[in-house]
Amino acid sequence: MALTGLDIYKLLPKTNCKKCGRPTCLAFAMQLAQKKANLSDCPDVSEDAKKVLGAAAEPPIKLVTIGSGAKKLEIGQENVLFRHEEKFYHPTGVAVTINDDLSDEAFSDRLKKINSLKISRVGTEIEIDLVAIINKSNNAEKFAEAAKKVSNGSHLSIILSSASVDNMKAALSNCAEKRPLIHGANSQNCEAMAALAKEKNCPMTVTAPTLEELADLAERAKKTGVGEIVSDVSGNNPKEVLQKLTKVRRAALKKNFRALGFPMITFVCDDDPFQEISLASTYLLKYAGIVAVNTCEPWGIMPLLTTRANIFTDPQKPIQVEPKLYAVGDVKEDSPVMFTTNFSLTYYTVEGEVEGSRVPSYILSVDTGGTSVLTAYSGDKLNDKVVAKAMADAKVETKVKHRKLIIPGLVAVMSGKLQETLGWEILVGPREASGLASYLKTVWRP
Ligand code: SF4
Repeated sequence: MALTGLDIYKLLPKTNCKKCGRPTCLAFAMQLAQKKANLSDCPDVSEDAKKVLGAAAEPPIKLVTIGSGAKKLEIGQENVLFRHEEKFYHPTGVAVTINDDLSDEAFSDRLKKINSLKISRVGTEIEIDLVAIINKSNNAEKFAEAAKKVSNGSHLSIILSSASVDNMKAALSNCAEKRPLIHGANSQNCEAMAALAKEKNCPMTVTAPTLEELADLAERAKKTGVGEIVSDVSGNNPKEVLQKLTKVRRAALKKNFRALGFPMITFVCDDDPFQEISLASTYLLKYAGIVAVNTCEPWGIMPLLTTRANIFTDPQKPIQVEPKLYAVGDVKEDSPVMFTTNFSLTYYTVEGEVEGSRVPSYILSVDTGGTSVLTAYSGDKLNDKVVAKAMADAKVETKVKHRKLIIPGLVAVMSGKLQETLGWEILVGPREASGLASYLKTVWRP
């Protein structure tokens, strides 16, 4: 059970010396209980208390690192069940499988395809994280050869999946320096797999049919000295998988149940790729640390990565673009000028439509604290003075000869006042960005 603030307080020196930066020992204890303070901040805590409190101060879900270098993946160490309570910290890793029994040509083609699974979304490049090599051949040499090819031919981190300890050993000899995730430990081979993981300093998974057995297996792996464990909750029944994912997360966070305090992985296999991606998205939302899929088509991976990008943003901080004047295309002195807000989703929607219209244009991104047009207008973050200031800061009058500004149709109501303040002719654009291309081609005249 997690220690309460009062439990922790009883173990502190109770001198209220303030060396920890808090006014009292009780205040420090309360923050420690909420994981908002570090035990090391108190220099006077006794060794006995350290033993008890050190264990209690550990995160309820262990942080596990897979891979090395720039593309290493960190999963786990989450503090909440629901994003609005705080935020989720470590985005779910997306893995795509590759079987080691493919022909050389097919293997190389698939790996090339996997390596290119990246998309640009609201100005950010997002991509998958891992290649999961499946020892389908059950042959040590083939598995080792596949590990070598992926290690040399991909920038992504690796999952090695085999229930054979000998085959795993062979594959590790070709890629251990990449710190792959060792997947395949079960009740029969747990200690042998754990010994390999310990020797090569790699994280490992444990797989068992029930949560009780999963907890036992994790304890067995821990006893051999492996610290970084991932619980495998894969299964063919989506309802059961989702229940397991939720139960484990709740047990770790609400009951501080250490034996299940590890991030989780699910392998999702369905003959229907649409169903596969929809299941993977569901598991990603609640609460998989890694989802592994067979689909390697961009149209399948794109919604999965988009779901991840949406859920792992901080709900309290809108995503923003830099407020400034953007030139889209080969702009000239008679190019149209329009404004929108600096909320990323709004800005990139407008930019995409302008790009698609092939009419080179200026877009002024007005600083509204990352809120959308109507939200900003109703909160008085978007008014004639704010737009006039943004126009002046960006020196828009030096970029074009005309004096016409296109404003979003949603805020047509501000056109009169803006015209007065700015001294430019105000043109009311379409209400939706989707109408911009037609507007620029048929209505706009410099
Ligand atoms: Fe209490 Fe330690 Fe903080 Fe001093 S440093 S106030 S003893 S918790």
